[in-house]
Amino acid sequence: MSERLYDLKQNLPELFELESLIERAGSKMRCSVIANAPFDGSTLPVHLLEMGSTDPLAPAIGFVGGVHGVERIGSQVILAYLQSLLSRMRWDDSLQDQLDKVKLFMIPIVNPGGMFNNTRCNPNGIDLMRNAPIEAKGKVPKLLGGHRYSRHLPWYRGLKEDCMEPELQGLHDYMRQHVLGRPFTMTLDCHSGFGFHDRLWFPYAGSFTPIADLNTMYRVNRLFVKTFPNHTLYKVEPQAHSYTTHGDVWDLLYDHSLEAYPNTTFLPLTLEMGSWLWVKKNPRQLLKFGSLFNPMLPHRQRRILRRHYPLMDFMMMATRSHSRWQKLKPTQVSKDTRAALKLWYDEEGHSK
Ligand SMILES: [Zn+2]
Repeated sequence: MSERLYDLKQNLPELFELESLIERAGSKMRCSVIANAPFDGSTLPVHLLEMGSTDPLAPAIGFVGGVHGVERIGSQVILAYLQSLLSRMRWDDSLQDQLDKVKLFMIPIVNPGGMFNNTRCNPNGIDLMRNAPIEAKGKVPKLLGGHRYSRHLPWYRGLKEDCMEPELQGLHDYMRQHVLGRPFTMTLDCHSGFGFHDRLWFPYAGSFTPIADLNTMYRVNRLFVKTFPNHTLYKVEPQAHSYTTHGDVWDLLYDHSLEAYPNTTFLPLTLEMGSWLWVKKNPRQLLKFGSLFNPMLPHRQRRILRRHYPLMDFMMMATRSHSRWQKLKPTQVSKDTRAALKLWYDEEGHSK
């Protein structure tokens, strides 16, 4: 085994597993590297995997993880789903039928250097989810909302005059060049570490303004709840409901999509797994930093890996069939918008 593989297996088992899956998948996936992430005077690859339709107008579903290096469970959830898909591809015709009509992409480890170092930020000390060139409207929480004081403090955005970090630039460029502009696109960016509940956030992170696709978000939520009535895990809400931030790349991409392709739908969702629950069940986790963001006991980790499978599968099915459930009378669209405003926003237009 080469020295690099040995190091990866020890310090970055998620990248080791990802590269093993890429090797095993062969022609079942189209794989490339969208960025070379800075790491210790060298670089680590940010891998992109694509499956399914190559039609530039096919709807797309994307799973993204590891933006914050310490939140390893997000990458692990995606890798578990990938492993299952690769296995199903050998025998499951219904999956093949879906993939004939849908483009599926995954970027399981956006920040491999941060994950190697077990830090939230990338090795340049920058929080990739505060690094996009977009300002929040109104006040953000001090530090947490993103700041430019020092890379030695958490949630550092980087300097205003600098470009985005290579990892984020790679993700951003890929989304703009190869994903947006389709009739329907949905993404799930997997994080952990906030609160006792699993949350599903939709934009905006930097504004209380309801998104233009609010009615579709409402419809997606309703479809999920009706289809999986016993899977009531998620608190679905606009991200600004929890806290507002500068520099959220999904806000930036959402606005770009709205401006460049106003007749399409783009729903970038963030899964924020509520890791405080794992800590509550095992207070010894407080002694170890990384364990605040990841389940430490094997049975709990397995539970988390299977917990989000129905959501990911649902997202793929909903993407495949979007033209069917999106076909609504204008009166129904207005009704959904009103219901969504009532559900998520108060009379002043703030999140509830
Ligand atoms: Zn995160």
